[in-house]
Amino acid sequence: MTKPSNNVETPKSGSNRERGRPPKIRSSEVYGRAENWRNILEQVWDRLWPLLSNAHSEGEVTKAFQDGASPYDQNFVPSLSPLTLQVLRESTLPKRPKPLQRFLADSLAGVGVVTPRRSRDICAQERAKGKSAHHILRYEFYVECSCGYEGHSKNHACPKCAAEISFPLGLGSLIS
Ligand SMILES: [Zn+2]
Repeated sequence: MTKPSNNVETPKSGSNRERGRPPKIRSSEVYGRAENWRNILEQVWDRLWPLLSNAHSEGEVTKAFQDGASPYDQNFVPSLSPLTLQVLRESTLPKRPKPLQRFLADSLAGVGVVTPRRSRDICAQERAKGKSAHHILRYEFYVECSCGYEGHSKNHACPKCAAEISFPLGLGSLIS
């Protein structure tokens, strides 16, 4: 490390991984878990946050989730209590509920196999991927109509005389 860093590191216990080896965790798995947990946190937030924001030990974090996030608490505690406590102490912790829920979910979704920071980066990357993946909103055909029109159909009909494209039997119900 050449630059000074106050980033929170993952717990030393249980991380016997060799240095430099890519961690065995899939980005899609991390992101999927983050989205799931964000939904959970959103649901229980009004109960959970008053307790969690006053938790200052691993035990108190565990208790906060048990009292404030049941029946989902076992997703998070006790296994992620130490990690949660670390994340809550990060200087970049958002203040407003929605960004804070996302921050927590994204940070914890790496379950300590990767650092909270890396976990958030993974989620941001996966989120950006989802946004850039386009899908077809509408499709039309090139038609030659008996009215003389040649060109693209509009709503699967001739734009000039409104003659509809007749799909082969069965296919119409699938695609129109
Ligand atoms: Zn026509």
